[in-house]
Amino acid sequence: MNLLIMGLPGAGKGTQTQQIVATFNILQISTGDMFRSAMKKQTKLGLEAKAFIEKGELVSDKVTNEIVKERLSESDVNGGFLLDGFPRTIKQAKALDSMLVELQKKIDAVINIQVAPAILIERLAGRFICRDCGATYHKLNNPPKIEGVCDRCGEHNFYQRDDDKPETVKNRLDINMRQSQPILAYYEKQGLVHNIDGNRDIDLVFADVKTIIEKA
Ligand code: ADP
Ligand code: AMP
Repeated sequence: MNLLIMGLPGAGKGTQTQQIVATFNILQISTGDMFRSAMKKQTKLGLEAKAFIEKGELVSDKVTNEIVKERLSESDVNGGFLLDGFPRTIKQAKALDSMLVELQKKIDAVINIQVAPAILIERLAGRFICRDCGATYHKLNNPPKIEGVCDRCGEHNFYQRDDDKPETVKNRLDINMRQSQPILAYYEKQGLVHNIDGNRDIDLVFADVKTIIEKA
């Protein structure tokens, strides 16, 4: 099964994806994670993406489509994949269609997590991430079970994303709000979109996500 997960920054895509991966044994492909990993390694891609990411802007379609195409050409996607953070523009959605035709694959469902903007700002301000395994937490809403220890890998290294700073968050939300509507309309026309109320507790949101995936 091949899925897309959509929603504005802070909607809970990464958090739900962690549970989807654990429950359905599906492969996560996150363009944001790929860019952050490239930035950490200071590769050519990382250096190119950094300037955009730091301003809360989107990396170019050309570069983004290339990394997704490369990733989708690997054999581990054959067991099913979930794209998180891609596509974010109509050009990317069309490029994805071409990639899927070539690979003789299709998208089975688009999960769209809807959250009120005021809540998104508060979620991004409190988000922190395990440096070792990438698990996502929130200071108030979703702290690790033992303070300072990652539930998933047991390590103690956490960081806050630079682009979660309040100055960048506003720009990211504006840009993503503008871009997301046409993409949702694109997939709605194909009857693939499942909207979920993401303003609720993580487990309640996941119960809906699970039902959608089981029926897809
Ligand atoms: P996205 O991947 O969509 O940007 P994340 O999954 O990283 O969003 O979630 C953003 C922040 O909000 C994280 O700190 C996460 O722990 C928290 N969070 C995610 N889902 C919920 C929820 N349903 N209720 C409260 N906090 C949440
Ligand atoms: P995310 O982790 O999904 O919030 O993405 C972090 C940042 O990476 C975004 O603000 C963009 O700068 C960049 N990015 C991630 N995915 C894409 C994409 N599909 N298209 C363009 N830029 C992206």
